[in-house]
Amino acid sequence: MITVKGPVDHVVVVGAGLAGLAATLHLLGAGRRVTVVERDSGPGGRAGLLESGGYRIDTGPTVLTMPDLVEEAFAAVGDRLADRLELIPLDPAYRARFADGTQLDVHTDGAAMEAAVEQFAGARQAVGYRRLRRWLERLYRVQMRRFIDANFDSPLQLAHPDLARLAALGGFGRLDARIGHFVSDERLRRVFSFQALYAGVPPARALAAYAVIAYMDTIAGVYFPKGGMHALPRALADSAAEAGAAFRYGQTVTRLERSGDRVTAVVTDQERIPCDAVVLTPDLPIAYRLLGRAPHRPLPLRHSPSAVILHAGTDRTWPDLAHHTISFGAAWKSTFRELTRAGELMSDPSLLITRPTATDPTLAPPGKHLHYVLAPCPNTEVGPGVREWRELGPRYRDELLAELERREMPGLGAAIEEEGLVTPVDWTAQGHAAGTPFSVAHTFPQTGPFRPRNLVRGTVNAVLAGCGTTPGVGVPTVLISGKLAAERITGPRPVPRPVRRGTTA
Ligand SMILES: Cc1cc2nc3c(=O)[nH]c(=O)nc-3n(C[C@H](O)[C@H](O)[C@H](O)COP(=O)(O)OP(=O)(O)OC[C@H]3O[C@@H](n4cnc5c(N)ncnc54)[C@H](O)[C@@H]3O)c2cc1C
Repeated sequence: MITVKGPVDHVVVVGAGLAGLAATLHLLGAGRRVTVVERDSGPGGRAGLLESGGYRIDTGPTVLTMPDLVEEAFAAVGDRLADRLELIPLDPAYRARFADGTQLDVHTDGAAMEAAVEQFAGARQAVGYRRLRRWLERLYRVQMRRFIDANFDSPLQLAHPDLARLAALGGFGRLDARIGHFVSDERLRRVFSFQALYAGVPPARALAAYAVIAYMDTIAGVYFPKGGMHALPRALADSAAEAGAAFRYGQTVTRLERSGDRVTAVVTDQERIPCDAVVLTPDLPIAYRLLGRAPHRPLPLRHSPSAVILHAGTDRTWPDLAHHTISFGAAWKSTFRELTRAGELMSDPSLLITRPTATDPTLAPPGKHLHYVLAPCPNTEVGPGVREWRELGPRYRDELLAELERREMPGLGAAIEEEGLVTPVDWTAQGHAAGTPFSVAHTFPQTGPFRPRNLVRGTVNAVLAGCGTTPGVGVPTVLISGKLAAERITGPRPVPRPVRRGTTA
C-alpha cells in the first residue's frame, strides 16, 4: 500500500464530519498528534443538528447501520461505544407501505422476517427470502474486507480470488434482476432494491454487488442513538478530544501552504497551522481547489440525485408510522427515470418518513412529535437549478404536504408548529457539487478503484477522506474512509493474529 512519505507526526484533519472524526480517532490511536479544523461551530458536518422551538432536529442521516464500524473508531483510542452512546435497535428496521394499501414490516431477525414475508406474500416468497438472505450474507462476506474496507493503489488489486467469488455470486449483474431471481413479488423486490438510490443509481442499472446495502439495512440491523443521530458525531468528537485531539471550530480552511510536493501548513481565515500531513474531508470540489488541481478523468464525474427534506414538529402524530416508514408510490421505474435522466420531480413520489420521537420522545417538547420526510429529487446537473428551486421549493413543499395528507399523515398541515424545508439551494450553499449532499454516484466507473482516489498526484502528504472518495457515500462507508485515510499516513493496521482453537492465553 502506498503511504505518505516523510515525517507524519502532526496531522491536520480538515472537517469534523464522520469521515474526519474517524480519521482523527485512528490517527490518535496510532500515536499521531491531530488538529481538526472545522468551519461549523461543532462536529457532524452532514450529520448535523438544528435546534428550533424546543425540537432537536437531525439534518442528515437517519438510518444507522453497522455499529461495529463505530465501535472500531472508538476502540482505536481504547474507548467503548457503550460508554459513549446508547444505541437502540429498531424493530421494525423499516415499515414499507405500498400504494395498494398493503404494508410489510422489515425485521432484522431472520425467522421473524421469513414469517412476515410468508404472511405478506405467501410461502414461495418466504422460501425465496431465505435464499436471498443467505446470498446477501455471502455477498457481504466476499466484499467487505477485500473491496470496501480496502485502500486501492491500482485496479489490478481487484485480481483476487474474491473477484471470481463475487462474479460467481452474480455481483456484476444488475441489482433489480438479481433480487428478482429470489423474490418475484414486485413489492418485495422494491424492499430489497430501493437502497440503490442511496448509491445514486436506479436498481435496474446498479450493480448487484450494491445489494450489500440491503444486507446492512435488512440483516445487520438499523439502530438509533438516544439523543438523535447527531449524538454519534458528538460522541466521536468527545472521545477524540479526550484522547488529545485539538479542535478548531468556526475556522474555514482557505488555502494550503506548500513546499514543493508537500503541504507544510493549513491556513484558515484565522490562523496558520503547520503540519506534517493533511487529511481533507470536504466535498471534492473544495478539496481539489485547496490542492490546486483535480485529477484528470476520462469522463466527467456524475453525481447522485439530491433530496428535499421537510422537517415537521407537530402537536400530534400518526402511530401507524414506524420509526422509519417508506411510503412507496405506485410508480417505480419511471420514478428513477425522472430522478436520474429526465431531471423532473417525482410525479408519484416514494418517500422516506422518519419519526424519531417514536423512539426518543425527548427530541421534541413534551407532548409534541418530530417528523422528517425525505423526498429524492434530481440533482442540479440534470434537474432544476438553484434559481428555479428558489421558486419551486415552497410549491413543492405544498405538493408534498398534500401527498402526505392523502397517504400517511391526514391533518399534517394543521398539526405543524415548527417547520423546516431543505432543498438543493441549501445543499449548494454548503458547497456540495451538483446541489446534492450524496456526492458522486456509485456507477461502475465511479466504484472501488475507479472512484476518485484518496491519494492525489502532485502532493505526497495529503489524503482525501469522506463520501466523494473510496469507498463511498453513507455513514458506514465514510467511517471506513476515515480509517483508510489514517492508514495512508500510519501504514497498514497490524493483521490480527489468528486465534488457535484449543489453546488458552
Ligand atoms: C439528508 C441526508 C440524509 C442521509 N441519510 C443517510 C442515512 O440514513 N444513512 C446513511 O448511512 N447515510 C446517510 N447520509 C449520508 C451520510 O450522512 C454522509 O455520507 C456522511 O455523513 C458524509 O460525511 P463526510 O465526513 O464525508 O462529509 P461531511 O459530513 O460533509 O464532512 C465534511 C466537513 O468538512 C467541513 N468543511 C468543508 N469545507 C471546509 C473548509 N474549507 N474548512 C473547514 N471545514 C470545512 C464541513 O463543514 C463538514 O463538517 C445522508 C446524508 C444526508 C445529507
